[in-house]
Amino acid sequence: MPAATIGQFSIERVVEQQLAFIGARKFFPDLTDEMLAVCHRDLPPGEMTRDSELVLSFHSYVVKTARHVILVDTCCGNDKERPLRPAFHRMKKDYLPALAAAGVRPEQVDFVMCTHLHWDHVGWNTHLVDGTWRPTFPNAKYIMSKKEYEHWDGVYRSGVRDTHMQAFEDSVMPVHRANQAVLVGDDYEVEQGISVEPCPGHTVGNVVINLASGGSRGVITGDVMHHQIQLRYPELSTYADEDPHLARITRTALIEKHADTDTLVLPGHFPAPSVGRIQKASAGGFRFVY
Ligand SMILES: [Zn+2]
Repeated sequence: MPAATIGQFSIERVVEQQLAFIGARKFFPDLTDEMLAVCHRDLPPGEMTRDSELVLSFHSYVVKTARHVILVDTCCGNDKERPLRPAFHRMKKDYLPALAAAGVRPEQVDFVMCTHLHWDHVGWNTHLVDGTWRPTFPNAKYIMSKKEYEHWDGVYRSGVRDTHMQAFEDSVMPVHRANQAVLVGDDYEVEQGISVEPCPGHTVGNVVINLASGGSRGVITGDVMHHQIQLRYPELSTYADEDPHLARITRTALIEKHADTDTLVLPGHFPAPSVGRIQKASAGGFRFVY
């Protein structure tokens, strides 16, 4: 059964893994003990462990239209060298079988859309073939924000080799070399009703993907928000936001825009079932209704 239907579009969730990823206070530097206590009281169970580790899901969304199969974000990937992220180093997960269970073979993917180019969103862009990183989806165009690509290309050229740059090297550059990357501007539309919208802050060229079909709407939000804590407190940016101040502005605007509407919200890391709607909460802030 699809995770969601938006007009003529059906959307599946393809999960790489879900895990207690990181401590809340580490991930949200401005989270106070009082705020944390409120979240333990008000958030649904399963969002956070008793000892305040945030439960995150790493998943893609597959959008099937009458014309195309579109894969949005590709998780962390198998076999990647991630020594600074031991839990993800040379990982082996059954992502391609999960994709197959969603009815999609790699050669059927027409577009891979990247909300941004962080290591946990580009991993399956490539896979290892005879010791070489090759595009996993041989017939796909990989849609990336030009601004985002050029930013990380500059960082890479400056000599930085952190986890993001290892991912740029093994999961983005091979796609570009294979002439499968399409670097797009701010209002790119894949087909009618599927378009990118800049939401900078988490990264400089971060985008969300707006879906509109048959009078219904959805938005794939990538990492504009990571966790339900940010609905209770939209002002909380993460240590992973490149520009925490701009991320705060962008996130607050996105949440307010979609709150109390029929727009289906498809976040990048909310645990299963991940998809829901945003409501204003009487206790303050907002809440997410799966
Ligand atoms: Zn992420």
